[in-house]
Amino acid sequence: MQALKPDLYTVPTDSSGGIAQLRGGRCTCGHVFFPMQTYGCEVCGRTGEALQPALLQGRGKLVASARVLLHAAKDRKAPFVVASIRLDDGPVVRTLLAEDSTERLPVGTGLRACLVEVGRSDAGEALVDLRFTPEN
Ligand SMILES: [Zn+2]
Repeated sequence: MQALKPDLYTVPTDSSGGIAQLRGGRCTCGHVFFPMQTYGCEVCGRTGEALQPALLQGRGKLVASARVLLHAAKDRKAPFVVASIRLDDGPVVRTLLAEDSTERLPVGTGLRACLVEVGRSDAGEALVDLRFTPEN
């Protein structure tokens, strides 16, 4: 299994409980952000060494969602659901839900990260990308 965007999330191992983590960052002021960057803290403005990588738990709550029925890119198969999710660690991420549904999830629904196969690598390995799915 190979991640489509390895700079953004981890591929869980059997020992990690099976949930992907997001590669974010933490400032010495305490602000947590995603994705990792060293340009500057959005809260205090510190740069460089003050900003360190931090793995964020792939769990959060739904803030908003929209079902996309038609996408301008011909290679993006619709319909699918785009969601804004407030991670338990703080940052809000915009991502896709693993499953399309005509039923809208209520705001505040607990969600967890999962990886879905989106293709094959040149070596024939499964290529996976991050999605979120409701907690059970
Ligand atoms: Zn800061």
